[in-house]
Amino acid sequence: KCICYCGLMLLFISYLIGQSFFVQSLRGARVLVTGASKGIGEQLAYHYAHFGAQIVITARREQALQQVAEKCLSLGAQKALYITADMSSDSDPDKVVDFAVEKLGGLDYLVLNHIGSSLFSMWQGDVEHTKWLMQVNFFSYIQMAWRALPSLEQSKGSLVIVSSLLGKSTSPFTAPYCSTKSALNGFFGSLYHELAMKKSNVSLSLCTLGLIDTESAMEKVRGVTKLPAYPATDAALNIVMTGATRQLELYYPWYTYVMVVTKDWFPSVTNYFIQNSYN
Ligand code: NDP
Repeated sequence: KCICYCGLMLLFISYLIGQSFFVQSLRGARVLVTGASKGIGEQLAYHYAHFGAQIVITARREQALQQVAEKCLSLGAQKALYITADMSSDSDPDKVVDFAVEKLGGLDYLVLNHIGSSLFSMWQGDVEHTKWLMQVNFFSYIQMAWRALPSLEQSKGSLVIVSSLLGKSTSPFTAPYCSTKSALNGFFGSLYHELAMKKSNVSLSLCTLGLIDTESAMEKVRGVTKLPAYPATDAALNIVMTGATRQLELYYPWYTYVMVVTKDWFPSVTNYFIQNSYN
C-alpha cells in the first residue's frame, strides 16, 4: 500500500515538474502559426499567447487575423503580429517566414496548420483542384519548412506539422485532401530521419488528428457521420505540448492510434468500419 502511495506521489510530482517546464519553456518563445484566423490554428495561437509566447499568425483574411492577434495580446502574448498570405501563391510561403524571422528576431516554433478548402464528396475527376490543394496543403508546407530550417537550427527549435488520420489511413469523399495529408506524412517522415542522421538541433513533430469540432469540419460532416468530434481547444493544447516536449508523434484523440494500428492487422474490419461510419 505504502509503495503504491509513494509511486503515485512520484508520478504526480513528475507531472507537475513536466508541466512547469513546459510552461516556462514557452514564455517568450518565438512562434509562427499558419491558418490561425479560425479553427485549430486560432486555438493554437491562444494557447501560445496564454503561455506568454511571441507570436506571428497568418491566413488570408486580415480582419479575422487582427481580431485573433488582439485576443492573443489580452491573453498574455508578449507580441502578436499578423501577416496576410495566400498559400496557393509561389512567393507567399517564403514571405511569411521572412516576416516572422525579421519581426521576432529568429524563430523557435514553426507550426504548419493551414488547409485550403475542399469538397466532401465523391471524386469527380477535378485534377486542377487537386493540384491547387497540393500547393496549399503540401508544397507551401515544405517551402516554409525549408526557409525556416536555418533559424530553427540556430534556436534548437521545433517544426510542428498538423496532419490527419486521413494521412495515415484513407476514407471516402476526401480523395484530394487524403493525398495532401499522405504527402505531408511521407515527406516529413523522411525529413525526420535526415535531421536525426545529421544530428540536427531541430525537432520535428507530426500530429495525427481525428475529427475536431471546427466550423469548417462540422459543416462538411453534419448529418453524414456519427463519429464524435473532439474540441479544437483540446486538440490545439495537445499540439502545443507535443511541440514543446519535442515528441515525434501526436495521436489525438486516442482512437486515431487504434485505427492506425488496426488497419494493417485487420484491413477488412477497418474498411467495413470506415464505409459504415457514413450515412
Ligand atoms: P479550418 O478550415 O478551420 O481553418 C483553416 C485555416 O487555414 C484558416 O485559418 C484559413 O484562413 C486558412 N487558409 C485557408 N486557405 C488558405 C490559403 N489559401 N492560404 C492561407 N491560409 C489559408 O481548418 P481546421 O482548423 O479544421 O484544421 C486545421 C488543421 O487541422 C488542418 O491541417 C487540418 O487538416 C487538420 N485536421 C483537422 C481536422 C478537423 O476535423 N477539423 C481533422 C484532422 C486534421 P483564411 O480563410 O482566413 O485564409
